[in-house]
Amino acid sequence: MSYLVLARKWRPMTFDDLVGQEHVSRTLSNAIVSGRIAHAFLFTGVRGVGKTTSARILAKSLNCEAGPTPKPCLQCPACTEIAASNDIDVQEIDGASYNGVDEVRRLQESLPYRPSRDRFKVVIVDEVHMLSSNAWNAFLKTLEEPPPHVKFIFATTEVHKVPVTILSRCQRYDFKLISSSSIAKQLRHVLDQEGIAADDAALGLMAREAAGSMRDAMSLLDQAIAWGGDKLVGEEIARVLGIAGRGKLLELAQAMVHGDAQAVLMIVAHLADQGFDLVQVARDTLEVLRDLVVVKVCNSPDSLTDLTPEELATMRALVADARGEDLIRLHHGFSTGFDQVVHAPQQRSALEMLLLRLVFRPPLLPVDDLISRLDGIERRLVGRGAALPRSGGPVALRNHRGATAFEPTERTESVSAGDRAVMAARAQPSAAVKDPAPLSRVAAHREIHPVADTEPWVAETVVDSSPIDMEIPVQPTVGTAPSERSQEQPVRRATEPAPTEPAPGSEAAWRAILETVQQQNAALAAVLEHAIPVEISPHAVHLAIEEGSFYADRARDDQAVDLLTRVVRARFHASTEVSLSLLDTGKARGRTLFDINKEQRLEQERKARAELESHKLVQAAIESLGARVHLIKLDE
Ligand SMILES: [Zn+2]
Repeated sequence: MSYLVLARKWRPMTFDDLVGQEHVSRTLSNAIVSGRIAHAFLFTGVRGVGKTTSARILAKSLNCEAGPTPKPCLQCPACTEIAASNDIDVQEIDGASYNGVDEVRRLQESLPYRPSRDRFKVVIVDEVHMLSSNAWNAFLKTLEEPPPHVKFIFATTEVHKVPVTILSRCQRYDFKLISSSSIAKQLRHVLDQEGIAADDAALGLMAREAAGSMRDAMSLLDQAIAWGGDKLVGEEIARVLGIAGRGKLLELAQAMVHGDAQAVLMIVAHLADQGFDLVQVARDTLEVLRDLVVVKVCNSPDSLTDLTPEELATMRALVADARGEDLIRLHHGFSTGFDQVVHAPQQRSALEMLLLRLVFRPPLLPVDDLISRLDGIERRLVGRGAALPRSGGPVALRNHRGATAFEPTERTESVSAGDRAVMAARAQPSAAVKDPAPLSRVAAHREIHPVADTEPWVAETVVDSSPIDMEIPVQPTVGTAPSERSQEQPVRRATEPAPTEPAPGSEAAWRAILETVQQQNAALAAVLEHAIPVEISPHAVHLAIEEGSFYADRARDDQAVDLLTRVVRARFHASTEVSLSLLDTGKARGRTLFDINKEQRLEQERKARAELESHKLVQAAIESLGARVHLIKLDE
């Protein structure tokens, strides 16, 4: 007895049998019932979703002795011959090979004649986008003036390659990918009829692997039956098909969620030893991580995942004590690293390291925990005489990741007696600010609000326990007025040769000149910041700039010299001499305004950092939350 492959044996014979394309079945059935049947149909969709099968069903529906009917009898000569592909009036053409000039001409010449037995001449063209231009022209001629007894059914996987002239004359039907659950259901139906047992894991595995194609699913089922006989078991099928079973992937996900590094490595080793394609394993793992998130956040995830009931139960148990944010973080981390695994020369170690990075992710801290820590800080500060400012005040804990706002006024219902005492104490402004002396200069000039202020303060805090960034803007502590700057002497070692030094007060004058230049040409001002002011006086303005530097050419540009001369003479005298000399590369030793500004800025930052780190609030945050001073932001 010859073995008929399942895909052919179980090919749908009527629209009712067609799985996963209900929208197509319904529309075609309605058209047939109402008698509004188009001359040409175009079926589009990826391979294996039922396009050719639907074309044959449609041909039967049109030509059945009992028709036209959406439910062909499957008994009459037309029905049986179409099913066997030997009906003389129904011609099936493969677009890829049907390109001979003679073939096309013969078809074209035959179409005007009435069908020999059936109601319609039906021309089914598979992979129609592969047709030659000759063939297209032949079809187009017939499509433009179709004889009433001719119907065309075109099928294609690449609709964008079909000429618009053809497209516009067809009724188009888009076939969808078939859902895994629909495929699994159909596989179960077939196996029941064939008398073969299978567990849900085996069916789920094949359905997922078929990726929306019923034909692929049937062919996988053929392989599985050839290997597994009368009983199909998930883990065994996985090995036969070379894909990791969900069970193993769930173990892997569990190890990641629980942070079990050894288990992760053991599972990868097991999968590698079994010869699984690790890129495929990574892809499947990503899908499992996605499903975990869905199961965690949805009450009824059934329609959103293609999990078997057992897999769903396992996932539910796994995510029960996991946090949604943590699962999302795992998925995000894994998908970010996925490409590295794909392109890595050593895919196994790349996958292992990606998994370990996720295993060792920093733990999430519950918000309640952070709140109580902040309460602790606040209480200590109240005791020492400082209080947290309100939101919008100069000092705010700020979160760069997901922020959680909370208001202490809402929590007062459940505070302990001890807390009440503290709150009563801080409700008195005098108690809160009775000892302002220890406050550093950074905080001293700010307005400190007692916490008992009627407006609720809102602090933002992080959920992640990785170091918290606390931004506290600080006023520059070094004056920026030119008069102050000019009194600063550059620090240099005694062994260095004395640089060309401008006369006292000349730095302020140079600064003023550049400010005027900047108003007219900001780019030139930026260039001149890199020039050394050798002499700045009513008698002469002499600049030096390093030869060959980026700035030299720009500073010596005619327009630049003109502008500078105008500004200088407007400030000093119409006869003030303006000159610019070049210094040999590496010989420039004077200080440019750029150098001076940079030094001053660094000095400001150093002072601000020192002051901040001695501030009580910052110290408390460092102690209690493991915070660190990350960024010092100086006001402009
Ligand atoms: Zn029939």
